[in-house]
Amino acid sequence: MTRLYLSPPHVNGRESELAQEAIASNWVAPLGPMVNAFEEEFAQAVAARHAVALSSGSAGLHLALIHLGVGPGDEVVTSSFTFAATAFAIRYVGATPVFIDSSADTWNMNPSLLCDWLDRRGRVGRLPKAVIPVHLYGQCADLDPIVTACERWGVSIVEDAAEALGSSYRGRAPGTFGRCGVWSFNGNKIITTSGGGMLTTEDDSFAAHVRKLAAQAREPAAHYEHAEIGFNYRLSNISAAIGRAQLETLEQRVAARRAHFEAYHAALGGLPGIAFAKEMPYGRHTRWLTCCTIDPAQARADREDVRVALEKVDIESRPLWKPMHLQPVFRGCESVGGAVSGRLFDQGLCLPSGSAMSAQDRARVIATFRSCFCQE
Ligand SMILES: *Cc1c(COP(=O)(O)O)cnc(C)c1O
Repeated sequence: MTRLYLSPPHVNGRESELAQEAIASNWVAPLGPMVNAFEEEFAQAVAARHAVALSSGSAGLHLALIHLGVGPGDEVVTSSFTFAATAFAIRYVGATPVFIDSSADTWNMNPSLLCDWLDRRGRVGRLPKAVIPVHLYGQCADLDPIVTACERWGVSIVEDAAEALGSSYRGRAPGTFGRCGVWSFNGNKIITTSGGGMLTTEDDSFAAHVRKLAAQAREPAAHYEHAEIGFNYRLSNISAAIGRAQLETLEQRVAARRAHFEAYHAALGGLPGIAFAKEMPYGRHTRWLTCCTIDPAQARADREDVRVALEKVDIESRPLWKPMHLQPVFRGCESVGGAVSGRLFDQGLCLPSGSAMSAQDRARVIATFRSCFCQE
């Protein structure tokens, strides 16, 4: 039997056709007509005014912080419960991260912890330069109270929507509530370009500046003129061709991942001590990954028992993200709360959720998971 991966790339067939078209046109280059078309189609998919294709989501977060003028001595607030790339970008510009714990229901940034912290800092005139809420595992953070708190103090929001393509918040795509949204097309995300990202924004000058910074910051001149530091962060035309093909099937991908969740929930939700991430009433959870927690006080097994049992039959599963306030590299950074994300890390497991996974493979995961609970 072949190894079952957590969230492998899902090729639907049109990728090679469009990539071949790109090669035949001789646009084997960064930028080109496929990049332009991918940007237009992506902007339309999330109802954003501008979309700028980049080499990664990490590049998008980096350039967003540069555009907002974040630098050494500044603080940037983000969710402790996230993938490290969010917090790394804050260090790329020399700023200091502040980590906010999760809400127990959404698993995302706790808005009341953020609001209290901003009020305290606002009163003493020590506000952060930006807040980066993260929309984890396919579900939006509770944006309304986050936006209200940031507006009160005039703090910019950069939305890390890398895991949330296809999700919604009160009928709108994430990434359109803050100054910009950042997306990822890494191989494990809901769509892939084999590696890539996108920055979306409503702001003309934000988009133009990010576009310029990503292409080595060339000033408009026939010769190479540079007034600021640039980066080689644009997406290749071949990658964009793959992205266009992937984007065409986004809705089917969301449906497939949600169906995996429904099946896991139906088969495992009744086991003692097992809980699944909730879908909040404010929007659509894509179930990019189906995630559950295993409370060893009630269950007959703990997270590691289940993970190791799955690994023994060549099924990949992963603990939930280890919170940033517990990462050695961020030791000493301010952390606001931390018990909720700490518990999610101790007890949480992501199950195979790829949109091309068969019902038979899913049944294998379920049977192995259940076997951990049926032993004497
Ligand atoms: C994947 C991911 C990123 C980084 O995106 P890359 O394209 O891999 O650089 C950032 N934030 C979160 C939450 C992610 O899951």
